Amino acid sequence: MPVNLAYRAYQFLWEALDWLYPPNCGGCGASGARWCLECTQKTIEIIPPLCPICGNPNSKNEVCERCRISPPRFTSLRSYSVFGGSIREAIHKFKYQHEIGLGEALSRLMITKIEKLNWSLDLITSVPLGLVRFRERGYNQATLLARPISLFFKVPFSSRALSRIRETRTQVGLSVIERNENMSGAFQAKKELVRDKNILVVDDVATSGATLNACAKALLDGGASKVYGFTLARAVYSPIGEIDIS
Ligand SMILES: [Zn+2]
Ligand SMILES: [Zn+2]
Repeated sequence: MPVNLAYRAYQFLWEALDWLYPPNCGGCGASGARWCLECTQKTIEIIPPLCPICGNPNSKNEVCERCRISPPRFTSLRSYSVFGGSIREAIHKFKYQHEIGLGEALSRLMITKIEKLNWSLDLITSVPLGLVRFRERGYNQATLLARPISLFFKVPFSSRALSRIRETRTQVGLSVIERNENMSGAFQAKKELVRDKNILVVDDVATSGATLNACAKALLDGGASKVYGFTLARAVYSPIGEIDIS
């Protein structure tokens, strides 16, 4: 796909800021780039074999037990890498330390993967934050990842396709079933924006897939045709759920 002007302009804007304010790598702290080559090389990409639906690694490229027992509403969920090491460090800075330039830098990693998936997309959106969290943070990190992806693929972005209609408690310590219950009914879709569309929902980290599943349900209830999910990283789910990605 030829790189388009809007996407190049967006990158150029960030590169100009890098020139004015030389960055440090969000993963390792090395000077010169917002995200360095060494950190890319150290990051563990999630590659096949994996479940064709939820994208969790398994040995045979078969639908996993969890998806068989309780099929997710999304068509497919994929992630760039395992949540750990440098990428975990970078996501922490991106979310909690206002290093918003990491959005453009890390979205490049996601773009290289999404390109290979051959998903036919009509609209891109991001997992909305609750109002309280949005006010605390001042920005939605998932949106900062989704915008450059939208520019690259020339697929429209809308931050209004989904809204959070109920605050949810932290997912820490919850089982898969509890996570699904916790997220159930948390989102609502704007019907006139999503009807008959194939939609990609972008987020920074997935754990059980409960959040993306709740987004998919809302979008499909709103008339969307298909829903795909893509996250930068994926926390390998543990039954005791000790990983805090909130
Ligand atoms: Zn680095
Ligand atoms: Zn699965």
